[in-house]
Amino acid sequence: MPTKTTMPSRCPVCAQDLVRADAAGVSWCPSCRWNLDVYDPALAPWRGTRMIGRWGFRRGLELDRATHEELLADPEVRPAGPSPGEVWLVAVSVVLALIGVAAVGYLGWLVVADALPPGVRLVLAVPAVLVLLLVKPSFGWVPKSGVIAESEAPQLHRLVREVADAAGTPVPDVICADLSINAGVARLGWRQRSVLVIGIPLWLMLPRPARVSLLAHELGHLANGDPLRVRRTLPARTFGARAVAATGGRNPWRRALHAANSLAEQRSGTAVLIGMAVHGVLALVNVAGATAQLLVDSVAMPDSRRAEYRADLVARRVGGTGPFLQSSETVLLAGRIWQDLWHLAPRLRSEQLEPTAAETRQHLAGHLPLARQLTRRTADLWSTHPSEDQRMRLIEALPRIDGTLHVDDARWAEIDSELAPWRRFAHNVLLGTRDRF
Ligand SMILES: [Zn+2]
Ligand SMILES: [Zn+2]
Repeated sequence: MPTKTTMPSRCPVCAQDLVRADAAGVSWCPSCRWNLDVYDPALAPWRGTRMIGRWGFRRGLELDRATHEELLADPEVRPAGPSPGEVWLVAVSVVLALIGVAAVGYLGWLVVADALPPGVRLVLAVPAVLVLLLVKPSFGWVPKSGVIAESEAPQLHRLVREVADAAGTPVPDVICADLSINAGVARLGWRQRSVLVIGIPLWLMLPRPARVSLLAHELGHLANGDPLRVRRTLPARTFGARAVAATGGRNPWRRALHAANSLAEQRSGTAVLIGMAVHGVLALVNVAGATAQLLVDSVAMPDSRRAEYRADLVARRVGGTGPFLQSSETVLLAGRIWQDLWHLAPRLRSEQLEPTAAETRQHLAGHLPLARQLTRRTADLWSTHPSEDQRMRLIEALPRIDGTLHVDDARWAEIDSELAPWRRFAHNVLLGTRDRF
């Protein structure tokens, strides 16, 4: 007789065979989705402990459910004034800025405090300098390489302008290309210029109408008031992550233990004690930073989630329902398509990458249902995007519509020829990675 803890091999609801992502994973029913929405440590993002991970996973699901209902009831709903999340982020940012000002004042006082010997003043300055490093604003840099100037690609720039018009968003200040299977917008530099980044591999894999959908989603972020993308919330969004990075990143205790072990092998006495104390403090700062950032982000994330869904609604309006779903499906298969292109690359010319990617996409369509369900287990409260499945379900639940922007084949051909150097670059990357193995 099977015990309670043994997983059945068939679905108790519809008797379908169950599936799971890997041997250690938790199985679910691909047909009726029984047991799909459960925390699976093998797939969920790692958040320090399982307890926090499980909480973040459940909270993410609740948030998606609530946002889904709110947007289905009124897809055009606009936030009235700043949300609690934004107020919170601004308040934390102000406190951090005040701490920074206090640290500068204290350093100034140390410079003029000539009653103290210089050595003592130097030691007293260290904590203030560390605090300043944590809270100083950092706005990032507008990338220098990969910028696609309007003179090089007038038709691409025209397309982006048209998408921005149709979406009712500002036109990005800079358009960049890179070789990621991704796309994004960010505000960078002291002037917080808007930068649109197009990952050429993803662009090549997308059907043409789905490219409009992708651009509309990204530009949608410039208009929909995402508090995670404005300057006044930047200090709150970065200080904890910065503390984690400065103290060595993930797994601080494992690192501290490792360091203590190697210290104990090499030296003795006070050196070991001091070394262990330093590593212990680093690990403590690391955990405190990670926890503080998770807390701050927990309050801000509902806005960020809503901003993603709203950007999807912009993509649906501008590009239409079909192209939105096509772009989601391409994202789901992108890793596999790129892998296939890697195998085929030596026999292809760079101009053949797009048609080959389209064929591959058709061949791989059988993987879509499971790949889509799987994404539900890989997103939690702190993920930058809701799961692909949640996003597709919102658009599928709304009436099917055509987009407002149509681009004819002649113009697409012009855009393709403007991006030809980038296509060659991507092809070379496919060939180059082969040489390394
Ligand atoms: Zn079932
Ligand atoms: Zn987005």
